[in-house]
Amino acid sequence: MAVARCDAFRVEVRNLPVSTHWTCPYCNRIATLIDTNVSSSNHNFDCGNKDGYSLLRTTVIVCPNHECRNYTIAAGLYRYNHDSRGNRTQLRKPESSWSLKPQSSAKPFPDYIPAALRSDYEEACLIASLSPKASATLSRRCLQGMIRNFWNITKPRLIEEILALEDKVDPQTWEAIDAVRSIGNIGAHMEKDISLIVDVDPDEAQLLIELIETLMTEWYVHKHDRDEKMNAIAAVAAAKKAQQIQPAAAAPKP
Ligand SMILES: [Zn+2]
Repeated sequence: MAVARCDAFRVEVRNLPVSTHWTCPYCNRIATLIDTNVSSSNHNFDCGNKDGYSLLRTTVIVCPNHECRNYTIAAGLYRYNHDSRGNRTQLRKPESSWSLKPQSSAKPFPDYIPAALRSDYEEACLIASLSPKASATLSRRCLQGMIRNFWNITKPRLIEEILALEDKVDPQTWEAIDAVRSIGNIGAHMEKDISLIVDVDPDEAQLLIELIETLMTEWYVHKHDRDEKMNAIAAVAAAKKAQQIQPAAAAPKP
């Protein structure tokens, strides 16, 4: 089953099943898409272009959430394979893809996450397909900023800061961080000085973005939600206690 992500341009709409889980990039709600939420159009062209018969597919996805109803627009350019009989087969993966609305695949994160971190993350998303190495550099700075801000760990190199996390985060989170860290060019990225730009491919840049999204959610959002719940429980308990004290204080002396 194809899973549609917030960057809608990666959705294989051609193979979109009747219902597909999708996260809206505007309201961040997970929705189940049905065919009435999705509209796509194919524009086949040749006109003697150097790559031959090609397909430009545009896709519009409307958020099913009634309070949102926002929509994404994406486009993908597909090439065809030709066999010896002259039959054409459309390649499954687009040669190029563009997210037209919104232009970035960045998820909306709340204001209580420091603005500098959100800004690095949003810029990393915006530039991910255009310049993976610039995107990875911003992601690296964002990751370092998160470790310093949330965990109060500051060391000369990002790799040392990451290693210092091992006994602080839960094993599952550590496994995710370690898995991404150990990938070739990303690993090299974290070993280098923060100002050095290391070449990475688009998939690696995307993986870093996904790691940041996961950690922002795990660290900041979940902590914030937990704090709010605990504060609410404490407030209810305090109110109950006050109610118990009041009648006793108001009771007349014998
Ligand atoms: Zn929405």
